[in-house]
Amino acid sequence: MQDAQARGDAVGHFNISDLVLLKATLAGARELNVPVVVGLSEGEREFVGTRQIGALVRSLREEFDFPIFLNADHTHSLAKGIEAAKAGFDAIVFDLSALPFEENVRQTKQAVEALKAINPSMMVEGEIGDIGTGSEIHDSSPDLSKGLSSPEEAKQFVESTGVDILAPAVGNMHGMLRSMVRGETKKRLDIERIASIKQATGAYLTLHGGSGTDDDDLRRAIAAGIDIVHINTELRVAWRRGLEQGLAKMPDEVVPYKILPPAVEAVKQVVLSRLRLFNGKRRAA
Ligand SMILES: [Zn+2]
Repeated sequence: MQDAQARGDAVGHFNISDLVLLKATLAGARELNVPVVVGLSEGEREFVGTRQIGALVRSLREEFDFPIFLNADHTHSLAKGIEAAKAGFDAIVFDLSALPFEENVRQTKQAVEALKAINPSMMVEGEIGDIGTGSEIHDSSPDLSKGLSSPEEAKQFVESTGVDILAPAVGNMHGMLRSMVRGETKKRLDIERIASIKQATGAYLTLHGGSGTDDDDLRRAIAAGIDIVHINTELRVAWRRGLEQGLAKMPDEVVPYKILPPAVEAVKQVVLSRLRLFNGKRRAA
């Protein structure tokens, strides 16, 4: 992350919940030779297995000698955080943003201490503000304008909790609207707010809910201080389309590894295009 920050790039974070998404993400990152983070929220971990994905990502990192890292995305309790830390996760998003600010600060600080006691090099991310829930397709956009993060509360949060990374609310939102899936509308970001939060905190900043965001806004957000960008819904849309394609092409096939390659390819194309954008400086050099 220091490396990416120094260059003016961001690290791509892709959510996975099966082998198709994991294979596609690693293949995209290896093709471009850029570091990558795979993340699993509590629901995604429940499906895949927390210790199992820890072992899988570790084995990929070792076998290919490749910088692929593992993040415990949106973790809402210390017990789940400890489970991830013990399973070898490299980073965690400890998300109590739904609680009142003071309570969020108090419990996040406790979590930072408890998690670093298990693994001192684990990076802990805290979250403030409202960016909606669910990396799904939404019918309408929630009003998130009241939940935007201010530089003052961001500074206070980072200083009082000791988090390494902050996830602010800067116009981003989890999930995509139907019009975004069709490519008719794009999410827009508050670039000035990102720059002032970066200046106030000096912390690494994550942009959650990156799917469906205007490309140029993403570039400007990274230039303004975003260090990690999360992509989930775009991958899920590609996964479904690829799967439907595979099934349609082979209506009588039952062999998973013959049906699934179009899904891997569809997800990989999204990963490639997002990683190219996030790593623009590295690729130009
Ligand atoms: Zn998120």
